[in-house]
Amino acid sequence: MILSLEPVLKENVWGGQRLVTEFPYHAEGEHIGECWAISAHPHGDGVVKEGEYAGKTLSWLYKEHRELFGNINAEEFPLLIKIIDAQSDLSIQVHPDDAYAREHEGVPYGKTECWYVMDCPENAALVIGHHAKTRQELADMIAQDKYEELIRQVPVKKGDFLQIDPGTVHAIKGGFLILETQQSSDITYRVYDYGRLVDGKPRQLHVQQSIDVITVPDEADTKALRHTDGLPENQLNLLEECAHYRVWKLNLSGNLSLPQDYPFLILSILEGKGTVDGKPVEKGAHLLITSGHGTIAIEGELEAILSTVGREG
Ligand code: ZN
Repeated sequence: MILSLEPVLKENVWGGQRLVTEFPYHAEGEHIGECWAISAHPHGDGVVKEGEYAGKTLSWLYKEHRELFGNINAEEFPLLIKIIDAQSDLSIQVHPDDAYAREHEGVPYGKTECWYVMDCPENAALVIGHHAKTRQELADMIAQDKYEELIRQVPVKKGDFLQIDPGTVHAIKGGFLILETQQSSDITYRVYDYGRLVDGKPRQLHVQQSIDVITVPDEADTKALRHTDGLPENQLNLLEECAHYRVWKLNLSGNLSLPQDYPFLILSILEGKGTVDGKPVEKGAHLLITSGHGTIAIEGELEAILSTVGREG
């Protein structure tokens, strides 16, 4: 079965208009920051568009028909796929791991996430990691507002891929369009918000939680970033495999027969168009291919990110 969900669009202070002008998504509002394309999270539970399960949410389907997801054990549908349009900088933030999220937030999942950079300005950079050598130094630099010295800026270009483990300080900057594959969680600790006011007030910071969960010393810069230029066409190219997900890039020119041997497979079209099992798809489509579907026939000129659960799924 190939499912397609009604996307859930989110308004964010830092969001722009690209999701509604360059993609087939609809939302009112000036600052549309996120499209939750495949999600069973309670803050944006996708509804099946058509077919036998039309009108059902993904969380319902996962609960009632686990066989469609290879009978995996994860207590909630484990992944959330979104596209982010940052018109201005996001806050500098960090996420907890599962153990911390469970203990302190009462939710099953912390947040490991990864980004495929769909677009960004020339000579752009993202915030990935920090320079403090000890937790005390980290706490001192935060207390003294020394963010420019604390954070690490990493040069990034279109097509780059970044893995953000829990405990990694990070921030998306204005001008970035990103496809994010993440655990199904929205627990975010805001370290710093550039002193911005939203509706006349600064947004809440989570300084103590941040100091608790930030990895010290930080090694993210040596591990987080990889370039994807020159990947071979017409095959799945593995970008990341971790406990929570596997993510591949596909550059298709022609056709591909893809065995679906995974508990489920998510296909997100970034660019171009084609067909999947004969059905037309184009930029902005996200398909959830269930367990036991058998071989998938993909045809066209397109770029896609595919994902499924990771080793612990
Ligand atoms: Zn994040």
